[in-house]
Amino acid sequence: MQFKDIEGNENVKKLLIRSVKENRISHGQLFLGPPGCGKLAFAIAYAQYISCKNRTETDSCGVCPSCVKFQKLIHPDLHFVYPVVTSTAYKKPVSDDYIAQWRQFVLQRNYHGLDLWYDFIGSENAQGAIFAQESQEIIKKLNLKTFEGEYKVMIIWMAEKMNETAANKLLKMLEEPPAKTLFVLVAENEEQILTTIRSRVQLIKFSALTTEETERGLLKEFPSSDLGKIKDSAILCAGDYLEAVSILSQLENGGGDPDFELFTTLMRESFSSHYDKIIKLSDDLTKLGREKQKRFFDYCQRMVRECFLMSSVSRELVRMTPAEMSFAEKFSPFIHHGNIAALTELLSEAARNIERNAYGKLVFTDLAIKISAQLHVKKP
Ligand SMILES: [Zn+2]
Repeated sequence: MQFKDIEGNENVKKLLIRSVKENRISHGQLFLGPPGCGKLAFAIAYAQYISCKNRTETDSCGVCPSCVKFQKLIHPDLHFVYPVVTSTAYKKPVSDDYIAQWRQFVLQRNYHGLDLWYDFIGSENAQGAIFAQESQEIIKKLNLKTFEGEYKVMIIWMAEKMNETAANKLLKMLEEPPAKTLFVLVAENEEQILTTIRSRVQLIKFSALTTEETERGLLKEFPSSDLGKIKDSAILCAGDYLEAVSILSQLENGGGDPDFELFTTLMRESFSSHYDKIIKLSDDLTKLGREKQKRFFDYCQRMVRECFLMSSVSRELVRMTPAEMSFAEKFSPFIHHGNIAALTELLSEAARNIERNAYGKLVFTDLAIKISAQLHVKKP
């Protein structure tokens, strides 16, 4: 992975490169940024840059023996920790159990999301984590001497998924760091990381991609796609590259977005109080994995917000695909000042309940009943 492969966050790129040039590499760093901004790719490009034998002012060389190993993610001084799931094969899983799949997943593209990872390892309904047993692995790896590079680098992806025991072990290591070791924690939710850990690491903040950066990334990754659709996806994704890819594929496939279909069904059936259909829909939703369910609620939040903008604020602010727009033309009058706050809260509450492992079917049925009541609130 090289810096030139990743769009956006030019200021972060410069900062990281300067830290290497001036030999001020902080031993613990937290790469914090929204989903789909490329922070994991950045962490790998940074490690590759540090270890490169022929680095330039702006990037690693990409061809030296170290770079070649980094590009396959097999460099012996590069270590990864990431959420994994228990299964019949792995009762007490650690990251290394999934290393072959991990390499494939990471190398597939430059932007990575937790739901995509769970999809990739085929564990839709399991709640993944960085489990307690991982801390033994971390200690083992860090006690190895550096093989080739100057630095050992340990990249902890989705560090907020670290269980408490593992987090406390990591904290000890951050307090008394082994020599020439660099920890890069990659995360999306700062509040979910122990304060004690946060105070031990240097915070590197990533921004969402701009529309132009997203567009450039899409053009590189999907050179044969229609330029107009690429432009639309870049505008609609709100800086989340993964979302842009998903929108692009919907646009290319004639709007068959599962979230959109589910959203319109949820709203229609709730509005008409068709409870038999709502129960059927709850079944469908329950079959999705938890990460997808959470993503669905994010999608619902966005759609409700856009409909509110359309009905009550200004159509100029609205960002939707053509299919969403045509649904919203009819639906948006039902979203207004009288129910927007309540609807938003209902959706957040449902997402929180799913996060807390509540029974999906109950959450969805309950949500539909409450949405139904809100949609019948009269416009003030
Ligand atoms: Zn190199």
